[in-house]
Amino acid sequence: MSEHATLSRHTGGCHCGAVRWTIRAPAALQTHTCNCSICEIQHYQHLIVPSNRFQLEQGDDALSLYTFGSHNAKHYFCRHCGVKSFYIPRSNPDGVSVHARCLDMATVESIIDVPFDGKNWEKNAHSLAHLSKT
Ligand SMILES: [Zn+2]
Repeated sequence: MSEHATLSRHTGGCHCGAVRWTIRAPAALQTHTCNCSICEIQHYQHLIVPSNRFQLEQGDDALSLYTFGSHNAKHYFCRHCGVKSFYIPRSNPDGVSVHARCLDMATVESIIDVPFDGKNWEKNAHSLAHLSKT
């Protein structure tokens, strides 16, 4: 697809540097800030990409896993600094959500953030499903 030609390589990771990853995504990004119970307290800003556009470069051994509720979402956080720089979202189990605030901004042209009403997850989750499709 011609869309692939427009993808940039972005890097990011946790606060202490133990966890580092690379994603391929547009230079002009659209993110979602969610108001569900866990995203609200973390102020998590989702950038959801297909799993084949995410590469964990280092820090596999630094990751801890937290799950709750349906246990479908895999909340990986760095056991050194506590930052959740990416995770597997319940809305997109075939994709990865990286925290846009954990991106190295040098390659990012712009970010437009769209609120996502995760408090009413059952009603709204379908609107995100396409984000993890290639
Ligand atoms: Zn860390």
